Amino acid sequence: MPADSEPSPQAVRNPALLGRVPNEELPKTEAEWRKRLTEQQYRVTRQKATDRAFTGEYTDTETPGTYRCICCGEPLFRSGEKFHSGCGWPSFTAPIDGVKGDTIAEHEDRSHFMIRTEVTCRRCGSHLGHVFNDGPPPTGLRYCINSSSITLDPEKPGGGDRPGADGR
Ligand SMILES: [Zn+2]
Repeated sequence: MPADSEPSPQAVRNPALLGRVPNEELPKTEAEWRKRLTEQQYRVTRQKATDRAFTGEYTDTETPGTYRCICCGEPLFRSGEKFHSGCGWPSFTAPIDGVKGDTIAEHEDRSHFMIRTEVTCRRCGSHLGHVFNDGPPPTGLRYCINSSSITLDPEKPGGGDRPGADGR
């Protein structure tokens, strides 16, 4: 393994930073989740907190790549659907497998005297954010996602990746 790809201490603690975590290696208790995640990641994904607007790591990121779940490593969003919403959180017009896909689950959220649609990672149940009807074409949707819930795998320019696997 080349020296520049040695996992960081954070990645040793949370294997989801490196890739999709196999089912049998996913935490089963809140204590186990707490061990893997940072304090803020834990509060957002497992306790449905929200990153403060404009403070998240990925709010204005334009790097091409795939955003995966910070808890289980499942690919959730792509940079191609990301747009500048100005709302202070990373925003996407659709999940990686489309609006009616299987990756993201939706739930009615009646907290804070509003009716909103919460979105979670269907695989591990982590809270991601909310989806609103004020997004741009082609979907008209705005998936408003906490940076703390996701991790970006930047696209590798020209090397190593499976060629043509993205189905363009
Ligand atoms: Zn997940």
